[in-house]
Amino acid sequence: MRTELVYQNDMNLFTLTAKIISYIVKEDSKAVMILDQTIFYPQGGGQPSDVGTIKSQSGLFKVKMAKMNPETGQVEHEGVIDQGIFAVDEEVSLDVDGAARLLHSRLHSAGHLLDHAIQSLSIPLKGTKGYHFPAGPYVEYIPTGDIDLTSTGLDLLKKNIETRSHEMIAEKRPITVVTSKLEDLETTVRETLPEKARNAEFVRLVHFEGAPIPGPCGGTHVTNTSEIGNFVIKKVSFKANALRIAYKCE
Ligand SMILES: [Zn+2]
Repeated sequence: MRTELVYQNDMNLFTLTAKIISYIVKEDSKAVMILDQTIFYPQGGGQPSDVGTIKSQSGLFKVKMAKMNPETGQVEHEGVIDQGIFAVDEEVSLDVDGAARLLHSRLHSAGHLLDHAIQSLSIPLKGTKGYHFPAGPYVEYIPTGDIDLTSTGLDLLKKNIETRSHEMIAEKRPITVVTSKLEDLETTVRETLPEKARNAEFVRLVHFEGAPIPGPCGGTHVTNTSEIGNFVIKKVSFKANALRIAYKCE
């Protein structure tokens, strides 16, 4: 039984009741819990895991890490039993740390913002990597055309991309997520999907208003660009054919 990923449909839901499907206790009060549904975002796609608590009538389980098991489709909640006991089939209350999630959503959405700022400035860069953790977030691109990669050129790039990003934040562009059947998608969208997504029945697409086409994404987002808040590009550097943009959301 796959875990129902409730956070995918409602990213502002930080409490939920769920049922324990399996529960394994390890040494030092550590445990792994699987539920029928969850609001804990499992680490992946450059976005860190949610943290929080799971409570039963007598028990308190502190969730340190949620991981998706790709073979079973189940989210494994790893953490420490703080008090009491838990049992299979028991109903439990989930509480996600909302402040941490909001920061993760802002940092992840800022990655999309950078992609679209670059796109709208027609800078020939193709995204290759995103790391949206609070400690040192960055995105990486490879050049697909002529770009001035001297330090003066990179400084100008930094200034232009940051200015465009700030404009997009001020424009409060909506960021929406739609899950579609693959067969219902337009050919232009379908052709841009990675191999894995092209073989799935459903695909979750994030649409950033103003972007030419939506892209597949499993992360959590803010609802419009203004919620990204105070956004700063810390550094633009080029090394080993990768252009890295380090940024922060204050
Ligand atoms: Zn995303």
